[in-house]
Amino acid sequence: MPINSERTINLKFDENLKAAVLTAITAAQEYGVKIFLIGGAVRDLILENPVKDIDITVEGNAADFANFLRDKYHCKIKSVQENLLTAKVQFESGAVIDFASTREEKYEKPGFLPEAFNFGCPLADDVKRRDFTINTLAIHLEDEKNLQLIDYCGGYNDILNKKIRILHNNSFVDDPSRIIRALKFKQRFNFEIEENTFNLMQKYLSGVNFQMPLERIKGELRQYFSLKNDNLYSLIINSKAYALISDNPIMNFNENLINELCKFDLFNADEIWFIYIAALIVNSDFAFERLNMTSFEKKVILEVRELLKKNKPDNTDDYEIYNIFNDLQDLSIAIYYAITENHAVKKFLTCLKEIKVLISGKDLIELGFIPSPYFNELFDLILREKLNGNLKTKEEEINYVKQYIKKEEQS
Ligand code: ATP
Repeated sequence: MPINSERTINLKFDENLKAAVLTAITAAQEYGVKIFLIGGAVRDLILENPVKDIDITVEGNAADFANFLRDKYHCKIKSVQENLLTAKVQFESGAVIDFASTREEKYEKPGFLPEAFNFGCPLADDVKRRDFTINTLAIHLEDEKNLQLIDYCGGYNDILNKKIRILHNNSFVDDPSRIIRALKFKQRFNFEIEENTFNLMQKYLSGVNFQMPLERIKGELRQYFSLKNDNLYSLIINSKAYALISDNPIMNFNENLINELCKFDLFNADEIWFIYIAALIVNSDFAFERLNMTSFEKKVILEVRELLKKNKPDNTDDYEIYNIFNDLQDLSIAIYYAITENHAVKKFLTCLKEIKVLISGKDLIELGFIPSPYFNELFDLILREKLNGNLKTKEEEINYVKQYIKKEEQS
């Protein structure tokens, strides 16, 4: 095992997670199986970043080991994935750890999910299926006082040199979602994509496999666009990674406007990612069909498309602005603004959106009217007056109706 002996690691976890790992170490010795902390948690420990979730890989059957933890160490099994022999286990401390059996993977169909085999293989074979060297590092959880770093692929030096490096030249062909993962790690850690990796990425992007399903790419884009960094969109454009999902992205999208839009309470923080995605796909039928969107997401994209088609100038009058935006999803309005910077949107959000007709059909009936489609005409007239600033209170609206009817009767 290529142990990096210069480097022993401290498990800087919160108390509950630390207690869970120590239990796992004791249990593994008793059960007689090798277990390893692996992937992102090891990378983050080296970078001295906080670690919240950890993955432990078991050189054996992780589902059986989870049963042992349940029977001997009062753990709860939260879920098991039978086909991959993985288990999510909650320890007495409350901490939850994902356990996976070591395995190998092969990609029969490029871009599709791989086929897993050789479960329980040596760690050295398991790491070969991973995305980047920085994510292949492992810590043998054996002796808590002497936790050593195991580095089969040179990941430790790549972390020190801030490099994102794939493990083999077919990596992006096998799984193009790794392109978005590379950009995610670049943004998150301010790392560079190593030259050969970058060239292979560009090569793939100039001939994307359009047969592949886009679920994983969408999932990775969601994580990527949920980062708090600047220039998220421009990196997707400049690196040409947009080609994975769209043949016609908006090129000059001003992503700084998203911060401004956050003030208007139009969307939750966990929807921000979709504003970026919308800018990538709104003009691409190809993406619309294939991105596996929810019905809400589809509705928003279609609304933004309609707005873009209308292409309203900024000097549209308030009544028209109100009617354009009033019935649309807030998220659609936000996206339209981020794409067009159309000032009518700002006017709608800051001045017009709150304006509502206060009287109801019931009030009109009390005034002696018989319900009819005429009610809507009256509401519309009142709305116009309100948008012009002429009516404020409900009483003023009622008086307006009375006077309007009087005039009508006289003419
Ligand atoms: P994060 O901090 O974003 O959770 P992570 O590295 O832990 O980072 P996960 O998505 O949780 O990311 O994946 C866990 C591990 O699984 C990774 O460290 C990597 O070794 C492996 N992995 C994840 N996605 C892929 C992929 N598409 N191809 C190959 N290996 C992957």
